[in-house]
Amino acid sequence: MSDSISQSALLPQLSADMRRPLLALTEQELLDWLTSVGEKKFRLKQIRKWMIERRIKSFDQMTDLPAALRQKLTTEFRFSSFEQVGHQIASDRTEKLLLKLNDSELVECVVMREPGRHTVCISTQVGCAMGCVFCASGLLGVKRDLTASEIFEQVLVIHRLLADDERVTNVVVMGIGEPLANYDNLMAALEFLSSEENFGLGARRITVSTVGLPKKIREFARNGKQFNLAISLHAPNDELRTKIVPVNRNIGLNELLDAADDFFEVTGRRISYEYVLLSGVNDQPAHAEELATLLRGRNAHVNLIPMNGVSELVMTAPGEPMTRRFCEILEQRGIPATVRKRKGADIDAACGQLRLNREQQR
Ligand code: SAH
Repeated sequence: MSDSISQSALLPQLSADMRRPLLALTEQELLDWLTSVGEKKFRLKQIRKWMIERRIKSFDQMTDLPAALRQKLTTEFRFSSFEQVGHQIASDRTEKLLLKLNDSELVECVVMREPGRHTVCISTQVGCAMGCVFCASGLLGVKRDLTASEIFEQVLVIHRLLADDERVTNVVVMGIGEPLANYDNLMAALEFLSSEENFGLGARRITVSTVGLPKKIREFARNGKQFNLAISLHAPNDELRTKIVPVNRNIGLNELLDAADDFFEVTGRRISYEYVLLSGVNDQPAHAEELATLLRGRNAHVNLIPMNGVSELVMTAPGEPMTRRFCEILEQRGIPATVRKRKGADIDAACGQLRLNREQQR
């Protein structure tokens, strides 16, 4: 593992940078600005190509722009919403970045590598209000929503990190925060990532993971694009789910599964149910049986995730045999299930773990 954390991550911000990040501007706003500084309209296309497709680090590298324009851009705008303050590389080449926002808050994003596949995991909030008992992201509560550009720029940061012959092929919204609790900004970010004029990643390559907010799931079903939905279920009955996922108290499995069924009816897309296995809590054969009954007849896929250790928490993952048994019971009952491969096992890969560690040092 290699770990580089710059000192500025640990120091309080002295003065916030008042310049807007360039990608926070709409196309129209950028066009208006170009006009206002006496530049030609065609510069818009050039600038956007540099910002979205090319792998550069500053306006200075936009070599087909006149030096004066590059200077104006630098004076007026920030190149990125983030300062990279941490970078960990695991032995399986999973990379995790810790990014500092202009108000000194921290978020994380990750790239996982598989043959022919580069999956980026992005955050949608600073912290999380959901309070899932095994998750590092919620331990400090939620500070604020990320803006749309703060969400999609994480993908661009990773894009610029990849080698010239590598591409981002998939995006999972499974980082810090509850995406559907920041719905409008999430959708604006997904629009950017999936539209041809912008990043151009197919909607089918983008997956949103939610704790399960029913109203928002129904709204998401009607957004008109073929995004994937993953629901963090974690328990087969309300009593246990409320213990593990406290917001379930106000939701309940019935309402959640009704919304999930609605999503399937409207989009025809199979839903993944994530189930973090917690030793002695939700990992018993009886839980697997109950889960199979709950999902019977639904077009579902269960993603079993042995819990990633979080140093502040006492919960742990079950061992291999227990995990395999759980998976087999589901499959024998006709519910497709897989155990999620561990990625980045030797870095702080658990959701929110890197940010949490850094916050504790401040
Ligand atoms: N709030 C959303 C998305 C972020 S969490 C959600 O709840 O789905 C993304 C996934 O990582 C969720 O399934 C979450 O339950 C899981 N997760 C969080 N902490 C984890 C941990 N310590 N080990 C394994 N999975 C974890």
